[in-house]
Order: sequence, then structure tokens, then C-alpha cells
Amino acid sequence: VEQGLHGKKVVVLGMGVSGQALAAWLLSMGARPVCSDLRPADHWPPGVIEWCANRGVAVETGEHGAETCRTADLVAVSPGVPLHIPALRAARAAGVPITGELALAVSFWKGPVLGITGTNGKTTTTRLVGEILRTAGLACIVAGNIGTPLSGLLARNGRPTLAVLEVSSFQMDSFPAGDGPGAGRVRFRAAAWLNLAPDHLDRYQDFRAYGDSKARIMDFQGPEDWTVLNAADTRLDPWRKRGLGRRLDFGWGKGDRPGAWCDPRLRMVTVLWPDGGAEEYDLAGWTLTGRHNIENLAAGILLSRIAGAEPEAVQAAIPAFRAPAHRLQFITRAKGIQYYDDSKATNVASALTALASMEQPVVLIAGGRGKGEDYSPLGEAARTGRLRAAVLIGEEAGAIGRALGPFCVVAAMNLNGDGWGTMRKAVAAATALAEPGEAVLLAPACASFDMFQNYEDRGRAFQEAVFREVAS
Ligand code: ADP
Repeated sequence: VEQGLHGKKVVVLGMGVSGQALAAWLLSMGARPVCSDLRPADHWPPGVIEWCANRGVAVETGEHGAETCRTADLVAVSPGVPLHIPALRAARAAGVPITGELALAVSFWKGPVLGITGTNGKTTTTRLVGEILRTAGLACIVAGNIGTPLSGLLARNGRPTLAVLEVSSFQMDSFPAGDGPGAGRVRFRAAAWLNLAPDHLDRYQDFRAYGDSKARIMDFQGPEDWTVLNAADTRLDPWRKRGLGRRLDFGWGKGDRPGAWCDPRLRMVTVLWPDGGAEEYDLAGWTLTGRHNIENLAAGILLSRIAGAEPEAVQAAIPAFRAPAHRLQFITRAKGIQYYDDSKATNVASALTALASMEQPVVLIAGGRGKGEDYSPLGEAARTGRLRAAVLIGEEAGAIGRALGPFCVVAAMNLNGDGWGTMRKAVAAATALAEPGEAVLLAPACASFDMFQNYEDRGRAFQEAVFREVAS
């Protein structure tokens, strides 16, 4: 791979957005991509089969063939593809190198790379860093798990450009170990690990394996690079000393070491540098809800400063930044009830964060497809916190209901597969339960795929239902 991809047979597993971008870039590099997807031909994303046919690119439909992978020069996997399928085992046994879409793209990227990982807050922090760098007038791109594949931007990477990357654990899993393809060229100028909470336990052997996967980002850093870690999250403790990067922490209170420290009265963030330098940032005008978003900001300030943004640009970006859609997004207020869309709260930890961020009693809409999580912390939030009632939808309605039942009012909606219809009923029921001065919060603690295309579709269904409800 170091010698170039020209003439090499590269099998791309998974033809979603990142697989498509990777195949196109490989072709432009003179490689011979083979596009492989488990779906039968008539279920591939529109246009992809035609694209391949027009360019003479081989396709494999309905399977990832062991023979296809064993005879490749390189196999590149999309993030959704599990790494222990038979085709990849065959490739490994035959000594064929395996990498991931993002890993391969990073190894070819010209310019400093910033990586942001963690269970929750990646997208918010990645967007924020992009905004700060733009405010600072620095050329940068924002890509990765956020929805724009980095491989799709390589063609325009003529001159060195800062890359701000959201990195999921699935993507990190396919970064090759030290001696794998392109590994020596992968380097994160700065890496932030925001937090760690149970998620994706359906894919990882256990919580430790999930944490290990995130921690690997630190293996791609040298002594000149920076590692930004959440000071308060004790779940990061087993990995704090990993890698060679210089440490910066972020957290609450008066910081006693280099990093970004948030004032508990929510008025400022203080940055302390290892050389003794200090900076203060004023939070006046910051519009995002919740202490978690100030933690995201603290990490984002450090990354942006490392990337070269001046403090003035950081300060100017703070009041200008808006929360991305479906992340504790305020929708409207009607008859004294406030409505919030946190459809992106797809695990228990983020739903708890949303609940902890609300200042008023909450009627929660939750449920969806489970990932093997324990819902009892939600019951605890109902026992001790502001969660007063819940309307439950989707496959996990029963399991969440058992956790909440003893502590708050619970209404379950019947699951009929019609997500938008179910959401209308759920919003109507939540509105009926809510008193003036309370909030209706969509924070499902689950994935959306049982009833919706994705979390965005679920969030749009909620918002549509809310506007319908308040108009009636
Ligand atoms: P990710 O890209 O990691 O999924 P997002 O920024 O999209 O992160 O946020 C995902 C969910 O987690 C949203 O519900 C959001 O409100 C919540 N969230 C954001 N930042 C944090 C954080 N630092 N800690 C806990 N929850 C967070």
C-alpha cells in the first residue's frame, strides 16, 4: 500500500456512502476496486450498480465472498461490516491486509488530522471545532462518522488541509495495527476522547472491549501530538497513560493541570497550557443546553487552539455556534409545555444526560431498538430526578417500562411498525400527561431502526407530531 495502489485489486466491503466514496477514489488512483455488498443487486443504493458497470468495476452482490477477499491485494471495510465474518477470516489467513475506509483515507490525507471519539458528543464537538477553525480563517474539512466520508474528499486534497474527523469505535476497529497497511502514515495531531458509557454492547464482547476500541486512537500519536481526555470520566482510567501524546484534560472546577477547566457557575472556560500560559473564554451567549455541552466546548477549544485558531476566533465562535439538529434541540413551547428533540440520544447515557439537563419536570418519550443495555439507571432517574412520566414506543417499550414502572407514570404505545403514526400518538399522549411548566422530551435511549429509517427520520417525525399537536 505504501508503494501505491496502482493496479492493485482492492475489495471494498459494504456499499453505503463511505464504500461508494472509497471505490471512486480507488479508481482514480488506478486501483482495481471490487465492490461487494450483502444486499442483492436490486437492494443496493440507487445508481451504484450502474456506476460500477459504466466503469468496468467488478461487483459482488448478496455476499462477501471468501474467495474474493482471499485473492485481493487489500480489503477495505465500511464501518458497518463486522470484522469476524468468514470472508475477512479468509483474507487474514491468506495474509491479505485489511483496513477501513477512514483508516485508508487518513493514511493518504495531506495535512494535520484531528480525531474526536467518545460514546456521546462526537458530532457536536466535531462541528464546533469546524466552526471555530472557519471563524479563524483556517482551511479545514469536517468528515468521518459525521456523514461525509474522508475518502470522498481526497481528490480535492491538493494542498495540506486540516481534517477534523469524527471517529466512531467501529471505524477505529479497522485502523490497522502498527504493521498493517498505511499504519505508519496514520497520525492524529490531536485526539480527543470525550467520554465512555455502555453502547453497542451487541457488537462488542464486553464494555472493556468497547473502551479498548476507542483507546486505540492514542496509538497513532507521537510525542509532538496532543491527547485530550475527559478528567472526570473514571471509565477512561484504564487507558489514560496509553500512547505517546502530550496530555491535556478537560473538566470542572479550578484546574490544577494543563487543559480546559469549566467554571461550575457556567460563566467561563479557563485553558492552562503546559508552558504556564493561561487563557479565559467567556460563555456569554452560548446557546447549548446542559453541562455536557460545556464539556464538549472545553474539548473543542483545546483542539481548535492546537490546530492554530487564535483565542479571538475561539471567543467569537462561542455565541455563534448552534446545537446540531436532534441533539437536545428546543422545538417549541405551547400551553406552557416545552418540547425538546433529542432523537440522537440512542443510548441510556445520553438519555440520562438529557434528563439531567432539564430544569423542569419531564414527560419522556423513549424506546426503539435495544442494544443490550440495562435500563435501570432510567428507573433511578425517575426515582430521584425530574422524570415524572414516560410514554414508551417500539421494541424496547416493555423492557424500559419494567425499569420505570415502579417510579413514574408509564404509558406504552402499541407497536405497529408505523413510526410516524406511532410518534403522533406518543406526542398526543405525552402532551396530555404534561402540566404547564413541564417539558416533553424525546430521548429514546435506543436505536431507531425498528420503526424509522434513522434517528433523523425519528426526530423529524417527532417535530412534525409536535407542530400538529400544538396546532390542534
Ligand atoms: P455522537 O456523535 O457521539 O453520537 P452527538 O453530538 O451526536 O454525539 O450527541 C449524541 C447524543 O448525546 C445527543 O443526545 C446529545 O444530546 C448527547 N450528548 C452530547 N454530548 C454529550 C456528552 N458530552 N455527554 C453525554 N451526552 C452527550
